[in-house]
Amino acid sequence: MSINLNSSNVATRENRIGSITGYIGSLKDLSEQSECGTLKGCSRCFSQSSTCLSSCALGQLSAIRDIAIIHHGPAGCSVAGAGTYYLDKVMAKKRGVTTDTVYVGTDMNEKDTIFGSTQALRDIILEVNRRYAPKAIFVSSSCATGIIGEDIDSVVDEVKEEIKVPVIAVHCEGFKSRIWATGFDISDHAVLSGIVKPPKEKRNTVNFKNFYESARPEIIEMFKNFDLEPIFLYCNSSVEELEHISESLATTCICGTLGNYLGNGLEEKYGVPYVRSINPLGVAGFEAWLRAIGDATGRRDKVEKYIEEQRAIYLPQIEEVKKQLKGLKAVLGMGPGYTFEVSRVLNELGIEVVWALAWHYDKKYENGDVPPSMKYLLENDVDFEASVADQQNYEVMNILNKYQPDLYLSRHPGSTVWAIKNGTPAVYVADEYMIFGYKHTLEFAHAVLDAIHNRSFEKNLAARVKLPYTKWWYEQKVDEFLEEPSDKKAQ
Ligand code: SF4
Repeated sequence: MSINLNSSNVATRENRIGSITGYIGSLKDLSEQSECGTLKGCSRCFSQSSTCLSSCALGQLSAIRDIAIIHHGPAGCSVAGAGTYYLDKVMAKKRGVTTDTVYVGTDMNEKDTIFGSTQALRDIILEVNRRYAPKAIFVSSSCATGIIGEDIDSVVDEVKEEIKVPVIAVHCEGFKSRIWATGFDISDHAVLSGIVKPPKEKRNTVNFKNFYESARPEIIEMFKNFDLEPIFLYCNSSVEELEHISESLATTCICGTLGNYLGNGLEEKYGVPYVRSINPLGVAGFEAWLRAIGDATGRRDKVEKYIEEQRAIYLPQIEEVKKQLKGLKAVLGMGPGYTFEVSRVLNELGIEVVWALAWHYDKKYENGDVPPSMKYLLENDVDFEASVADQQNYEVMNILNKYQPDLYLSRHPGSTVWAIKNGTPAVYVADEYMIFGYKHTLEFAHAVLDAIHNRSFEKNLAARVKLPYTKWWYEQKVDEFLEEPSDKKAQ
């Protein structure tokens, strides 16, 4: 699908790439329905949780150094700014840089939602520019401004005449998508349309879209073997750095859900190749990813040499620990960018995935292909029960009770805590690089062993916690809580 950078608005994942938040079945069925075009998202008759896409969009943007976010909406919408502000400061400190990014809410009140507040927004943008002198200003909408049709684009166009730095409208009305990852696309769209400049020269750099760059030093060192320099986005990025990402040799990411829009946008608009391989988690993922970077940048020989050296160090150790993991059963619940990648790694380590929940599912990516992680599993004849559920922990509890796995894995602490209260050992795959490359795959395997060998914490906690779920709930079938799309019902 073509990316239209002339419009400030980006279509939702549901509309653009047919993403869904409701499905129960098997991996193969999910894929077959995706390919023949019959997959339709079902809705739940009860929804326990979700989140607003603006947290993803503005959380990504506010990690850019020395910019301003102006969140035009009621105070409740910009409450996420407090956490974001704190996180950005911590991540900058950790990296050893400073950031003066500010996050400002416009605090719309009842009068504003009736009569509009474009004049106030205009004044706020000018005042933020005067007071903080940011390197770029992102002006975000909200549900309230979307409902009343507040013309943020016109305000932004007007103030551009008076402000020297880029001022960019960011359309993040929470109601427009059930998929919070749409927020990642919104932030990429804002950067692509408002910050990135056409290339002047090519550089030996690779754009690396990630969340919190925890493996930054080791990846910089690794890329030196290939005469490449990674540019980590957007955590601690500077506006100047972003202006030049069209000059890189390639774009890659730690998670396809996070990086797909930017990668495809840079390829489509500026011809920067987007590395479309499975992600660098586990042995197969790491090697496929390195080879794809080698091919995209013309450095395949250097990559092969590196793989050979590293294999000799780590593969014997990984094979050894695999003996202790064989036969374990796992359930996992994560965003789709990780669910199907981590499923692959578990399979690689000899752990059987009995159920995988993805918080949403992208039928295809921007270029029209199914996500590489899914393709890989199917080509390697891996199948298991799978569901798509936007972090519905009550369903997780039902599934854990039914399968009694040795292990539950999630990237969201609010999900792992329920498993632990249920007495199920859980691994919180918090760090995006926790299973990166040979070294961290080995560490991850040991983390799994630690979790299953010492179960006293889960046992003690489960014995003392009264869960809200009754025997009745555990006897229910989770698939009965999905409503079929009306056209399917009518058949
Ligand atoms: S934009 Fe909408 S969904 Fe998001 S926080 Fe505001 S009211 Fe809630």
